[in-house]
Amino acid sequence: MTLLENAAREDAVRDSAAQDSAAGETEAFRLELRGWLESAYADFARAWPGGADPRSLDYRRAWEDTLCANGWSGLGWPKAYGGKELPLSRQAVFHEEHARCGAPLGVNLIGHGILAPTVLHFGDEAQKRRFLPGILSNREVWCQGYSEPGAGSDLASVRTRAEPAPGGFRLNGHKIWTSFADRAQWCFVLARTDPQAAKHKGLSFLLVDMGSPGVRVEPIRQITGEAEFSEVFFEDVFVPQDALLGELNQGWKIAMAAASFERGTYFIPRLVRFAQELRQVRELALRADAHGRVPAASASVRHRWARLAADSHVLALKSQRALAGAQRGDPPGPEGSSTKIHWSEAHQRLLELSLQLLGEDACLGVGAVGARAAELTHAYLWSRAETILAGTSEIQRNIIAEQMLGLPKA
Ligand SMILES: Cc1cc2nc3c(=O)[nH]c(=O)nc-3n(C[C@H](O)[C@H](O)[C@H](O)COP(=O)(O)OP(=O)(O)OC[C@H]3O[C@@H](n4cnc5c(N)ncnc54)[C@H](O)[C@@H]3O)c2cc1C
Repeated sequence: MTLLENAAREDAVRDSAAQDSAAGETEAFRLELRGWLESAYADFARAWPGGADPRSLDYRRAWEDTLCANGWSGLGWPKAYGGKELPLSRQAVFHEEHARCGAPLGVNLIGHGILAPTVLHFGDEAQKRRFLPGILSNREVWCQGYSEPGAGSDLASVRTRAEPAPGGFRLNGHKIWTSFADRAQWCFVLARTDPQAAKHKGLSFLLVDMGSPGVRVEPIRQITGEAEFSEVFFEDVFVPQDALLGELNQGWKIAMAAASFERGTYFIPRLVRFAQELRQVRELALRADAHGRVPAASASVRHRWARLAADSHVLALKSQRALAGAQRGDPPGPEGSSTKIHWSEAHQRLLELSLQLLGEDACLGVGAVGARAAELTHAYLWSRAETILAGTSEIQRNIIAEQMLGLPKA
């Protein structure tokens, strides 16, 4: 059963005949896409020197280039900008099938998922014509310059300044945890343009060329061994006036809208992956060790696995509900916080169980389960970040407490 098999019905008008026809067309789209993805990804992985390496950023970028070269980019954009104008239900099918075939997420996630819809919504015609083609082709990778050493959860405290200069702005400041910054040609930066205004009101949204003089990127090595994010320093960087997205001092409003554009589809690949890993953990639990002991004989292991299976099911339902809400055009609500906590904390529990079942294979990255041990160990290490990125669990709990449960502000 697929995660989003009901999605087509959401696109159809209420008339049931039209519903059947839309569902049938979406199913045909799924099958065609699945066929293409399975063979294209298998060919790509086979041709990769040294064998498939889904954890490497070069591999991920090259696969993303392949997708874009074959037209799997700009799925929801208007045709006028090279997009496919696919309804959300089909975009959801794409994300689901892409994850299902085992392909990794790309490195221009932020360009495709956040910046492009933001430019489409807030950009002027010249900005759309300038920036969308580079994302469509994957020629230009984007990163997101929001967090700073003193501004993470409290994002409105950003201190990076953009001061008026002839023809634009002078940018000075220090960003941190900027994913893919060392690969990116462009960065969208939240910078303070009115130091006198209240902190949410004095910010602007700037599109900054990472090749500009005065931009310095210093990668930060993560627990996984990779350096996927960096510190970024801006020292007297000139940013032209036409790189201001939207109006001056409207950056907070744009940043908040940018965060909502992915809400219908963000969790889909992550939940497909969750279900795949859950199956791997089940195999591990049923595998006898050298002494003939089977972990699944333990009630505790069975209990933990069953709880994760329930998590997987509930998360799939929450994801369907988010997609349906996005399709109806409902405004984003606090429910996303509940899904974020649930997914990130359940994923950590899943990978903790996998590590326990792998035993010493988890350290060696080899053994009876071969390459899968290395993948699960890598996923375990990466998952430590999942309760931090895109809003920590504590911040999500604050949102749930205040906006869903009506509790007083802390
Ligand atoms: C893998 C990864 C990728 C990232 N990529 C990017 C990126 O591309 N661009 C970008 O701009 N940022 C990125 N970030 C940064 C991320 O958005 C921040 O780490 C996150 O918002 C938390 O901010 P902080 O690290 O400054 O922690 P802080 O805000 O300093 O929080 C420290 C601790 O205090 C708690 N805390 C803070 N305020 C409260 C409160 N009001 N109530 C209760 N507890 C509180 C937090 O939950 C946390 O436990 C990334 C982070 C990670 C881990």
